[in-house]
Amino acid sequence: MTMRAIVADHAGGPEVLEMRRVAVPEPGSGELLVETAAAGVNFIDTYRRSGAYSVPFPYTPGTEASGRVVAAGDGVEGFAEGDLITTAEGRDCYADRFAVEADRAVRVPDGVAADAAAALPLQGITAHYLATSAAQPQAGEAVLVHAGAGGVGLLLTQLLVRRGVRVITTASTPEKRELSRGAGADEVLDYGGFADRARELTGGEGVAVVYDGVGRSTFDDSLRALRVRGELVLFGAASGPVPPFDLQRLNAGGSLSITRPSIGHFLRTPEERAWRYRELFGAIADGGLDVRIGARFPLAEAAEAHTALESRATTGKVILEP
Ligand code: NDP
Repeated sequence: MTMRAIVADHAGGPEVLEMRRVAVPEPGSGELLVETAAAGVNFIDTYRRSGAYSVPFPYTPGTEASGRVVAAGDGVEGFAEGDLITTAEGRDCYADRFAVEADRAVRVPDGVAADAAAALPLQGITAHYLATSAAQPQAGEAVLVHAGAGGVGLLLTQLLVRRGVRVITTASTPEKRELSRGAGADEVLDYGGFADRARELTGGEGVAVVYDGVGRSTFDDSLRALRVRGELVLFGAASGPVPPFDLQRLNAGGSLSITRPSIGHFLRTPEERAWRYRELFGAIADGGLDVRIGARFPLAEAAEAHTALESRATTGKVILEP
């Protein structure tokens, strides 16, 4: 049996992504086969497609998707055919069907639509671990979140605000600034001069934490925006990777810390995974977390979806629908 999938034969720009017919994957032992309802588009898919992160080719992007279980491999317990599941840890998800280890899939609660379920896992789990684990800002402290209208940015802002943290964000256009304010940001800044402005807004002290997924273009000023003993959480490189760095600058800036976290290190056990999903779905259910789908593309237009994400044209989540 065959299905449609997006395939790249080699690294390159979005144009390397082509629609093909390929064999439907067989669910291995402990795996589910899922009919894709929607697949999430993420920056990591673009890093892999472009060759910035190395992957074997031919390459089908996508680790995040939702859909209904159509088959299960040996030894799977706790899932039945027809269950709506979602995951941030699937493989080859830009396709009509995808396989995922059952213990990396979660059942979607009633009341959460299939498209929202695809939009939540990767950016939602990221926002959750950034707010709770990579740094632990306290109620009343001020933090700075870059790209506040982006997928991670909107979710992270809402989760921090729920915890009583004062959130200052950056965003590049008036529309994005409005969206970020709607997510609860106290102040939304232009990128120009953001470090000085963040300092002014904190009585000259600086912020406790900067969450920086933009990377090269913001890194230096992110350090300057921190208070003494502040923490820089560098979690991405939307503008490019940060060049090598002299550790002495952390001392000069006021005994600062930097961490460079990755989602996989914050989903270490079944209990940790269950806790993060439980808190995210709980926040959706009580109305405290809005998952914004900013753009939808048909599966065949995966290249256009990558172009939109890389060119800063999107807000919230980008999804592909078969
Ligand atoms: P976003 O929706 O936030 O899109 C990226 C945003 O970054 C853009 O919309 C843009 O917002 C801003 N940006 C600033 N400069 C540039 C530039 N030169 N090119 C492109 N964008 C730029 O994406 P995600 O929410 O999916 O991801 C945000 C970051 O988080 C990425 O770097 C991603 O790799 C990282 N990430 C890291 C994870 C981890 O575990 N470490 C997991 C998930 C994501 P504006 O126009 O307002 O500046």
